[in-house]
Amino acid sequence: MNDKIKRNVLLNPGPGTTTDSVKYAQVVPDICPRENEFTAIMESISLDMLKIIHADPEDFTSVLYCGSGTVCIDACISSLVPDDKRILVINNGAYSKRAVDVCKSYNVPYFDLALPIDEPADLAMIEKILSENTDIAAVYACHHETGTGLLNPIKEIGALAHKFNSIFIVDTISTYAMLPIHMENDNLDFIMASAQKGLMAMTGLSFVIGRKKTIEASKDHQVRSYYVNMYMQYKYALENSGQMRFTPPVQTVYSVKQALKEYWQEGEEKKWKRHTAVWESLYDNMKELGFDLPIKKEYQSQLVLSITYPDDPNWDFNKVHDYCYERGFTIYPGKIPGLNTFRLCSYGVIDVKDIEKFLNVFREILKVLSII
Ligand SMILES: *Cc1c(COP(=O)(O)O)cnc(C)c1O
Repeated sequence: MNDKIKRNVLLNPGPGTTTDSVKYAQVVPDICPRENEFTAIMESISLDMLKIIHADPEDFTSVLYCGSGTVCIDACISSLVPDDKRILVINNGAYSKRAVDVCKSYNVPYFDLALPIDEPADLAMIEKILSENTDIAAVYACHHETGTGLLNPIKEIGALAHKFNSIFIVDTISTYAMLPIHMENDNLDFIMASAQKGLMAMTGLSFVIGRKKTIEASKDHQVRSYYVNMYMQYKYALENSGQMRFTPPVQTVYSVKQALKEYWQEGEEKKWKRHTAVWESLYDNMKELGFDLPIKKEYQSQLVLSITYPDDPNWDFNKVHDYCYERGFTIYPGKIPGLNTFRLCSYGVIDVKDIEKFLNVFREILKVLSII
């Protein structure tokens, strides 16, 4: 037990590199998740999840789901829009487009505000739409479009949503527990997160943090999904010591408990500094190697770097990927329509020294391919 596990440096946008202590935290005696010993862990991690975004447990709650991050998009959209109202989706990337697809799947009336994917959402446009469409009851945005690395001005969008009496739902799956977020100060009503991203735990547990008052008011909305309906999940946890309605991802919960302990040890500010230092190092080195970066630096999250393929017939992403992968570094394809890109990310338990090692390997393969 507790042998050292081969350490891979994951530069893909989550799951990220984890500590061995988080990996081993999953190895526990078999337990029925309905036992008090287990539900006490669920209650305690739920409170910690609120603390990360400075949310007051009087007003906010965490609703936990077994699933990947997309389950949160499903839960919010299928549960929170009143039957006779619409949701405004600020669509400027692959993940907010996913929200539009979810609206279509559940037949939730929506307004698809499609905006350019290489610049932060246009506030004047959002204000205009909200002032002209009084049937909008919820505004939806993606904090950080992981496909490009673009960051959206959520605080400002939230202020507009509230000015027009809408709730504000934000996909913070790729910023939570990395970029500091403050629930009230950032004008947020509902946010989303997934254990394997900012928390640096294992996959399988995702959660929504939202206003209790709004969840309670959603009690009479039509039930569009039996499995992810938020009021049903919330009410069950409330009446059953924080349990999930259906089987939780038991081992992942243990990994999250340990990951939260390590989160508080590192601290919000220090952790964010580490992620941004890794990103800055990636940014500077890719510039120096002559790569084109399609998103303006000031628009970026500092968590994902999109890099355009070099205009060189010798470039072969798969060859570069395989060479790096065999040496313990995972790089990832891009997601910008009409442009050939790849991505390098600053998630997980990695630091600038790992990037230096990665760059030695990356430069080697560029030389092998006669690109530099
Ligand atoms: C990772 C991610 C998700 C969820 O993706 P899954 O594959 O379901 O885990 C949703 N939104 C954003 C912005 C993400 O980065």
